[in-house]
Amino acid sequence: MEYLSTRGSAQNPDGGPLDFEGVTLAGLANDGGLYLPREWPQFSPGEIAGLAGLPYAELAARVMQPFVGDSLTPERLRELCEEAYARFAHKAVTPLVQLDQRNWLLELFHGPTLAFKDVALQLLGLLFEEFLGRRGERLTIVGATSGDTGSAAIDAVAGREGVEIFMLHPKGRVSDVQRRQMTTVLAPNVHNIAIEGSFDDAQAMVKRMFADTALTGRVRLGAVNSINWARLMAQVVYYFAAALQLGAPQRKVAFSVPTGNFGDVFAGYVAAKMGLPVERLIVATNVNDILHRALSDGDYSTGEVTPTAAPSMDIQVSSNFERLLFDCGGRDGAALAEQMRGFEATKAMRLTNAQREGAAALFTSARADQDEMAQAMRWAWENCGETVDPHTAIGLHAARLQDLDAPVVTLATAHPAKFRDTVERATGTRPPLPPRVGDLFAREERFTELPGDYDAVVTYIAEHAGV
Ligand SMILES: *Cc1c(COP(=O)(O)O)cnc(C)c1O
Repeated sequence: MEYLSTRGSAQNPDGGPLDFEGVTLAGLANDGGLYLPREWPQFSPGEIAGLAGLPYAELAARVMQPFVGDSLTPERLRELCEEAYARFAHKAVTPLVQLDQRNWLLELFHGPTLAFKDVALQLLGLLFEEFLGRRGERLTIVGATSGDTGSAAIDAVAGREGVEIFMLHPKGRVSDVQRRQMTTVLAPNVHNIAIEGSFDDAQAMVKRMFADTALTGRVRLGAVNSINWARLMAQVVYYFAAALQLGAPQRKVAFSVPTGNFGDVFAGYVAAKMGLPVERLIVATNVNDILHRALSDGDYSTGEVTPTAAPSMDIQVSSNFERLLFDCGGRDGAALAEQMRGFEATKAMRLTNAQREGAAALFTSARADQDEMAQAMRWAWENCGETVDPHTAIGLHAARLQDLDAPVVTLATAHPAKFRDTVERATGTRPPLPPRVGDLFAREERFTELPGDYDAVVTYIAEHAGV
């Protein structure tokens, strides 16, 4: 499979064609765009029916093989999937739970750090190790986190050959559970940095590092956020898994997706493009509703971020939305590069008619405020005996607004115990931490504190990157 960039002019830094291995290691394209496969692989209804009943790891290998192409043999891909998903606490990996006649929850939080990001990152850690080992190269991952991404990425690469990870978190501004999930991982290739300042300060430093040629000339920097195509690809699998259980390919299924950076719901779009019969994709946002405004009236303009009880959806810009605009807008890289330059200059843009119509064919959106979120939590608890986390509750609120003929699957993106205080406030029940993280508060922590000073952070990274 060959890849291209949404901005039309990316080249492989190594000179060869842009294949899966190259885009996985690169993360962001060097023209500032995001990678997509040149075409969508197609699965016929017969082929989809043939996937029913497969164990998750095998389904994953079958769905992802066309995207991986020659970068891995089918046997090796299956081995890596088996290794990645063996670490999940549920045999089904992503079990489906029925709430009522029409609503289902797809539980994506059975991985080591209790958030859906484990599903993709556990595989990505293994892919990095495989590709770097083959090339005899090293990769230095730098990232900033306000909580969930950092712990999932650290768990995924801890102890892996060829990879060092430096994760910046704003000192004193992540929850104790979130900090301990990062700082109690003591593998020598894991470097946690508590930095003075806000998450935005830390994020700005990381962006500056990728543009700092003095640094990138010394260390090969890698990214683990959802701009990495391999993460989206791994998320396509659970849309197939859920739809197959609910009767695909004979029956259409709708999905409601708590959305921030548009990675998870874009994976649903990819599944539909591959032939999975998807009735609707419901983009659920909190009050940070740029995507709801873009999909309902074409207005993609940023505002201030309002902190909410669903912090992983508190965003101003949704990076992966660019992938949809590219695919719906006729895949014209030059035109999209122009449109994005305008957006970067003014922090606002209108979707074109083609983009709006293309998106409207599959996407619906809804927004939930704090009360609606709490009501959805209470509904799940009182009527179905399920505790759901604040992100999932927003998805559930959006799902229950729809009037569709198809079953509606809400993606449960975090374990309720990760947000115990909010859940307890809404429902009166305090969900216990599952046994796999039960001794989190007894474990030793290790992290370095640094001032909010770019040079100090870069010096630290260069000294500890092992190159
Ligand atoms: C990251 C995250 C989201 C948002 O997912 P995107 O792919 O960024 O849209 C939603 N819920 C939880 C719990 C998350 O960690």
